[in-house]
Amino acid sequence: MGRVADKVVLVTGAGSGIGRASAKLLAAEGATVIVTDVNRAGGLETVQQIGGRARFEEQDTSKEADWKRIIDDILAREGRLNGIVNNAGIAGPFPSTFEDESLDQWRRILSINVEGVFLGCKHGVPALRSSGGGSIVNLSSLAAFLGTPDLSAYGASKGAVRQFTKTVAMDCARKGYKVRCNSVHPGIIMTPMGESILPSEKARERTRQRVPVGHFGTPEDIAYGVLYLISDESRFMTGAELVIDGGMNAV
Ligand code: NAD
Repeated sequence: MGRVADKVVLVTGAGSGIGRASAKLLAAEGATVIVTDVNRAGGLETVQQIGGRARFEEQDTSKEADWKRIIDDILAREGRLNGIVNNAGIAGPFPSTFEDESLDQWRRILSINVEGVFLGCKHGVPALRSSGGGSIVNLSSLAAFLGTPDLSAYGASKGAVRQFTKTVAMDCARKGYKVRCNSVHPGIIMTPMGESILPSEKARERTRQRVPVGHFGTPEDIAYGVLYLISDESRFMTGAELVIDGGMNAV
């Protein structure tokens, strides 16, 4: 208890999977959590599971107006914002090779996965600064390090998040902003997104054999990394990549 006591943290895409697990763990460790998602029912369910210290706001992270409204509302109601978890993301249809991918589909994935993170940093950093400093965690992926032939736009989007995270970190550091920014790189996690990429038991078994530790991760495995990066325990860490993948990136 108390690793992020008294912090106000915004978690996007917290109506499911990794976002929900992160919101729950942050709240259990003392944070007030603003749960946002395009999925109202999922977001409300997360708030209910937390049972106090959380509230839901509908937000489409690809829309700049939504970011302005959410950040203004948090500052007005909570008086501060100490952490942002840019978690909302989509994988798109599977498989999508670059030859099959339509331009519309490519743009849709990048608008949520990349522009959403850009907007979260652009509008979030001033709020964190005015609160005395803070921490941003951007959900990238193992896909940022590898070719992803069946998820072409998704892989490109996560590579962009990995790089952009370092840009934000370096810009904030050189300006003396006291705002840290790090990326988290999950391996394969059995959330609705993970299940959509591996729909059959056969495909799951084949992929499971490629994980050095022999099993997929859970949303909580990633949430503990998010908790560490939001907490002051990671105060000397910025521009870093936290890989949580059962060893897949080390093979
Ligand atoms: P998920 O599909 O379970 O949850 C994603 C949530 O984001 C959903 O609740 C969805 O409604 C929300 N969302 C989608 N578009 C949104 C938008 N425009 N605005 C606000 N909310 C939106 O997925 P997950 O597995 O929990 O993934 C969370 C993050 O972790 C994503 O960024 C994903 O790319 C990343 N990730 C997941 C895995 C995995 O194996 N599951 C691996 C690597 C990285």
